[in-house]
Amino acid sequence: MTASVLITGASSGIGRATARHLARREDLTVYATARRPETLEPAGPGIHPLALDVTDEESMRAAVKHIEERHGSVGALVNNAGYGQYGTVEETDMQAVRRQFETNVFGPARLAQLVLPGMRRAGGGRIVNIGSMGGRLVFPVGGYYHASKYAVEALSDALRFEAAPFGVKVSLVEPGLIRTGFEDTASGTLADSAGDDSVYAALNEAVGRRMADSYRSRLLAVGPDAVATVVKRAVTARRPRTRYVVTPAAVALVHTRRLLGGRAFDAYLRLQFGKV
Ligand code: NAP
Repeated sequence: MTASVLITGASSGIGRATARHLARREDLTVYATARRPETLEPAGPGIHPLALDVTDEESMRAAVKHIEERHGSVGALVNNAGYGQYGTVEETDMQAVRRQFETNVFGPARLAQLVLPGMRRAGGGRIVNIGSMGGRLVFPVGGYYHASKYAVEALSDALRFEAAPFGVKVSLVEPGLIRTGFEDTASGTLADSAGDDSVYAALNEAVGRRMADSYRSRLLAVGPDAVATVVKRAVTARRPRTRYVVTPAAVALVHTRRLLGGRAFDAYLRLQFGKV
């Protein structure tokens, strides 16, 4: 029996690229899931489309049951679905904040809860959480997105320790800037939360402009295959790493943040966003 892999958010970007990469291995059966399965690519060999909305308990249960009935357990869970809710801490609508945490934090946590009993029965499994370099450092106007990714860091660290005795290995993949649908969604949320008469209008504008420039930069942003390759390593390596930071620019930024204290990093950010 081939091992099964459940990937969330496979209709686009990193999830879609990961499904394609993993499906090239003959020993894996890939379940590419999306909340609107009609948005999934026509399934290639080894890829099975399934409906799964990470904010919907019933759909999460049904997807896990579907795979367990065919494979005994979910062999690997790739918690990828997510988006960036942008806007200042003061002005972002709390409903939008709750949606952010439902999708980026509670959904992946609940899916882990649902697959773990099967993994324990099978004597092992893999959980790969797609965090972000944004779980290691914070840019202004991204506070709620960063908070959700910091939460993914904490949950991954706790779960890695708790699940290890059962043969379940947990890895965190922390991408830098990746050219996917992410930027469009993020700038859409920023536009929704930032009114023209906002006291933060200049900062919102500077962050939006900087985000667009950064995703256009060949030095800072890469395509989703770079992440898919790393997720494949985390799923298949005999001894996967606890963390994989993806893109050289992300590695440099994470180190910079660690080396600079809070005040020095704020000064660095002021250089990026100007005195706003
Ligand atoms: P993307 O192209 O926008 O893809 C996001 C995926 O998540 C889409 O398939 C989307 O599905 C799905 N999704 C959103 N809400 C969902 C829900 N409630 N249930 C199920 N699926 C849902 O962006 P991406 O860059 O590939 O993002 C994938 C992950 O990488 C996210 O967790 C993101 O935070 C992380 N990440 C991205 C970057 C980056 O720069 N791109 C950097 C660091 C981390 P729909 O098509 O239905 O909306």
